Amino acid sequence: MFKKRDHTKLICDISELNSLFEDAPSLEIFLQKIVDMIASHMHSEVCSIYLYYEDREEIILTATYGLHPDSIGKVKMKLGEGLTGLALKELRPICESSAQDNPHFKYFPGIGEERFESFLAVPIIRGQTKIGVMVAQNLKKNYFTSEDISVCRAITSQLANTIETTKLLMTLREVQQKKVETPEVRDLKFIKGRVGSEGFAFCEAVVLDIDNFRRFSEAQNFSTRYTLEDFHRAVRLTEKQLEDYQAQVEEKLADVASLIFMAQILMLKDKGFVEAIAGFIQRGVNPPEAVLKIVKDYAAKFNAMSDSYLREKSHDVLDIGKRLLENLVGASEDCDDCQGRIVIARELFPSNILKLSSQGVKGVILLSGGVSSHLSILARSLNIPLVITDTAQLLEIRQRTKILLDAEQGNIYVEPSEDIIVNFKEREDARARLVELKESLREQTHTKDGTRVKLLSNINLLSDLKTARELKSEGVGLYRTEFPFIVRSDFPSEEEQMVIYQKLIAGMPDKEITFRTLDIGGDKVLSYYNHEKEENPFLGMRSIRFSLRHKEIFMAQVRAILRAGHDVDIKIMFPMISSLDEFIEAREIVFECLRRLKEERVPHNGSVSIGIMVELPAVLEIIEDLAAEVDFLCIGTNDFIQYLLAVDRTNEKVADMFLAHHPAVLRSLKKIVDAGIKFKKDVTICGDMAHEPKYIPYLLGIGIRRLSLDSRHLPKIKSSVSKIDLEKAKKLTAELLSHNRLSHITRIVEQSVQI
Ligand code: PEP
Ligand code: MG
Repeated sequence: MFKKRDHTKLICDISELNSLFEDAPSLEIFLQKIVDMIASHMHSEVCSIYLYYEDREEIILTATYGLHPDSIGKVKMKLGEGLTGLALKELRPICESSAQDNPHFKYFPGIGEERFESFLAVPIIRGQTKIGVMVAQNLKKNYFTSEDISVCRAITSQLANTIETTKLLMTLREVQQKKVETPEVRDLKFIKGRVGSEGFAFCEAVVLDIDNFRRFSEAQNFSTRYTLEDFHRAVRLTEKQLEDYQAQVEEKLADVASLIFMAQILMLKDKGFVEAIAGFIQRGVNPPEAVLKIVKDYAAKFNAMSDSYLREKSHDVLDIGKRLLENLVGASEDCDDCQGRIVIARELFPSNILKLSSQGVKGVILLSGGVSSHLSILARSLNIPLVITDTAQLLEIRQRTKILLDAEQGNIYVEPSEDIIVNFKEREDARARLVELKESLREQTHTKDGTRVKLLSNINLLSDLKTARELKSEGVGLYRTEFPFIVRSDFPSEEEQMVIYQKLIAGMPDKEITFRTLDIGGDKVLSYYNHEKEENPFLGMRSIRFSLRHKEIFMAQVRAILRAGHDVDIKIMFPMISSLDEFIEAREIVFECLRRLKEERVPHNGSVSIGIMVELPAVLEIIEDLAAEVDFLCIGTNDFIQYLLAVDRTNEKVADMFLAHHPAVLRSLKKIVDAGIKFKKDVTICGDMAHEPKYIPYLLGIGIRRLSLDSRHLPKIKSSVSKIDLEKAKKLTAELLSHNRLSHITRIVEQSVQI
């Protein structure tokens, strides 16, 4: 029925690839010749080659016979996206008699592929190295045979080496040519990153880099002569500005605001710093030059420190230097002011992001960190869209370049075209309409068949409470107490903590509240606490280990919680518990606090529930012993996955291995829930897994009835839960548990959203 294909001839022709390459001026033209040749031999209506860009985890259509030529370079897919992306991700050919029937098929309007039924995608790989995908398509159904698949595999294996070599050679050619070009950043139109905090922003960008200060100062004209009095006036003005910022931030973020700008204010009050500048001025140096000299000296000294937190202080020095200069010479603030801008930075610390928030930053692009890092968590609380990417080139773009940050998809568009902007505005409108939806949210959530599921909120900052209330949260399943600690300049006292906790309780009246005791260490460092440098901070003095080592700090916190919650339903949980002994030791401290508070006749909560976070694989083997002892269990999937799979949650390079549906994770979760059920103890999921609709059927299927999540995901998860039929979810769970291959589980999980 179909035209006979002469495969031998095709394979012979392909071996002539080198000669094709020799007269091809570019990789694209070389690949075009190949697709033309393959299409003609296979009598296939379409043959396309997509190349893979590892840095962006993206495949891009590079040559095609049969699809619209304009789609070259425009059709892009993530690894795993669409049938083409899937073939490359799973390193296997995918052959479909009718592609559009496969749920993975991704339809790109305008490229003309909707007419084609048969679909064959063969990955182009060298060993495990992903190079691209070859796709053939035909109008008729059932066109490709198993023989076609074998032949295409043979072709792609030959192509792999040639493409790699060609790419290399072409790159060398480009490097040669680029030598004469200016180093301006070009072709940086679209960058794929990972979402740290959802949202959109479309505005000018500012790069926060160590070079900023240099750039700023070079852009200024310091030819005017200034006086010592001008300098002192600039110091006073700068101090006033910083104090105003501090006041603003205190109003907005009462719990964590303390002293965010204090480091800079103190620097201005520091005689050493100000007098060093004044000294130069008195010796005849023009004040701006004197500021430049001392600021650069200080910044260089901080920058040379081995401690990353001290190094980071160089940002403070540079920031203050810039402000001083602006106030001295009256320069407009337009060089790298963050207000209303998207900030691009190599790295940021929690205090930086708080500062940026108070300055009205619209979005952040980070060149380091992970989506489940605590910086991302904080950005979510502050409603700052955040995307993380590896594309360091972004640090070199011109200040004030327009960027569209789609932190829902993780897309960064540099100077986006009109159609992208229009699309963005439409989505903004749709989001605005969604907000109205909150009125229709129910107080309680049930599955389709009427099973009650309690949906609680993770709270990081007190400012999160508003969203929690608006979106009808049923309480606080996890209050991360460490954030007020992180941004201070010293440990908050028992009284200070109590005030914060009282505000939290008042913000969620008549609802249950779970306080997690201090969880610092790892990626949450206290600048004022002299942490000894640890090679592996995530495996070091973290969390409950810190609290048990510093009992006075631990007791002050527990007392503050017990006092704040004297007449409400509160729970205390310990993070990162690794053994029964550790739990008992921590609980003893709570008992000791209770005893002392009673003796002191201080009002407190005498019937607090005490539980643990399950975050370490170590507890799996002792989970029943723990379940028997604790009042409740709460699974922190972010850390649990990190430790079970040995995948650093803050390292983007291994982000693709951070898999909540790894069979080991799924089976472990079941084991934990089983223990909870056996000993009649509540089990809550409070890691990011709880806000992913695709995992909800599984979690309900194993018996989870409590989820604690970022409040903004509540509508989505309320809706997911209410569509679930528990019997079906249980069947799906049994099926998932019966598989041991990630590839199978991935497919089932992706489809489970429809359950
Ligand atoms: C977790 O580990 O899943 C968790 C909820 O705690 P955190 O993200 O604060 O470490
Ligand atoms: Mg954790």
